[in-house]
Amino acid sequence: MALLSDTFCLGGRKHPSHRVDLTETHIAVQPASNGAAANAKREESAVVTALDDVIGVKLLPDNRSSGAWLHIYSYPRRKSRWGKLDRCRTDRSYFVCSEETQEGNMRIGERWRCAVWSVVRGRRFVPGSLTVPPSRRFLVLINPASGSGNAQKVYERYVLPMFDMAEVERDVITTERAGHVLELLKKMDIEQLKSFSAIVIVSGDGLVYEAFNGLMARKDWEAAIQTPIAAIPGGSGNALVTSILYAAGEPFTPTCAVFAVLRGEIAPIDLATVQSQDKTHYCFLSLTWGLTADVDINSENYRFMGNSRFAVSFLSRLVSYPKYRARLYYLPVDDSISEETGMAGSGDEDKPNAHLLPSLDDSLSEDSGWKCIAGEFITVVGSMLTHLSPTLHIAPSATLDGGVMYVVVTGGNVSRMKVMKVFTNKSCPDDSVEIYAARAFRLEPDLGEQARQSYMVLDGERINYGAVQLQVHKGLGRVLALTTTKERPQE
Ligand code: ADP
Ligand code: MG
Repeated sequence: MALLSDTFCLGGRKHPSHRVDLTETHIAVQPASNGAAANAKREESAVVTALDDVIGVKLLPDNRSSGAWLHIYSYPRRKSRWGKLDRCRTDRSYFVCSEETQEGNMRIGERWRCAVWSVVRGRRFVPGSLTVPPSRRFLVLINPASGSGNAQKVYERYVLPMFDMAEVERDVITTERAGHVLELLKKMDIEQLKSFSAIVIVSGDGLVYEAFNGLMARKDWEAAIQTPIAAIPGGSGNALVTSILYAAGEPFTPTCAVFAVLRGEIAPIDLATVQSQDKTHYCFLSLTWGLTADVDINSENYRFMGNSRFAVSFLSRLVSYPKYRARLYYLPVDDSISEETGMAGSGDEDKPNAHLLPSLDDSLSEDSGWKCIAGEFITVVGSMLTHLSPTLHIAPSATLDGGVMYVVVTGGNVSRMKVMKVFTNKSCPDDSVEIYAARAFRLEPDLGEQARQSYMVLDGERINYGAVQLQVHKGLGRVLALTTTKERPQE
């Protein structure tokens, strides 16, 4: 049933008039003509704009007549000029001229403007209502040192035009150094923080990590961590945005990422408390050790290559990689171990409740449910998200707030060929890696000779090498994510 129905001209006064209907899901446009036969014909020739694809609307008076222009900006999914699936800009302009006066035409247009904004900004449209839901305000953080140094260009080319169409307000900060965002969010006045609908990060995962850790470092972390984080791929490792787009069935492109920020809803995401000998960190993505961590850190000087830096560094290491010795413990997902948000019943009000973790100096026993794997490994990757990069689909069963860390273990006896397959394929072959679903895990690496050239990496950022343990908090953080799952594009 139509919520609004009017007659507009497409392309100007002299063009044929069309009937335009707004329903709860789309805008349909049909040639305006009379009679049953014409009606049937009209149904066939309806042009439809899905409201799920719309990001903005503008109403402007016509300078040369008493009419008014209603512009609708939408980004439907289709093949781009280069044959890749993407979201592509599609504008529709309707000329409102059924009234004698411009005031009358603007009044009709205003009803449409209010209706479209209500849908786009997540409110239900009440027919007859003439209120526009308030525009959103984003804090945009751009890292000039991430990836190939293109974050500013990505912002200007993809983000700015779509933010303008969606009429979002923004405070833009270009980071000055590593640690800048952590300090900024740790110290920001809570009222100022709350004034932002989301923090939009144009960088890789490292800046997202800083943002979550900045929010968690605050005394009022329980309120601060409710601020949604959103990411636009501007770095060489963009796991968060890849995993969010994958979950929604969206292709991995900058335009889709901006679209997901504009049309995404606030969604919970798992965060983990990570304890190392010297520090407590919070992670949203992964803990890596062994070959994967070494490849990540050794390729940092090749950020200019973008995501390819991992593959190039991986292939060069493949010739001679060491075997890494450790004891790995994990607490399997099991009904007797409840999912923890970390919020309720916190023992120490300064921190989320990580009650599954004993002191790092205490040994773990299988009696309390911990499983142990000891020996030689090629790599161990704990991941809470599906993807570590667009080409590394490491934990296919992961969901944003599943409360699970997937511990992916490649044992020391796996052949080079298989290792190459695991880390260069888009999906994990199941016979060469073991995947354990865990609520918590601990890694105690051998601190002998090998340790001097090895790394431990949290969300793509290096931490001090040594024993480390973590516990997942289900849905502790917030992100912006599209909830509609479309059929997945071909990988
Ligand atoms: P990439 O995906 O390319 O690794 P990241 O978002 O992970 O990009 O950022 C890489 C590193 O850059 C992070 O450690 C972050 O703290 C650091 N950083 C942020 N701003 C700056 C800056 N202005 N100059 C140098 N380093 C920065
Ligand atoms: Mg990084």
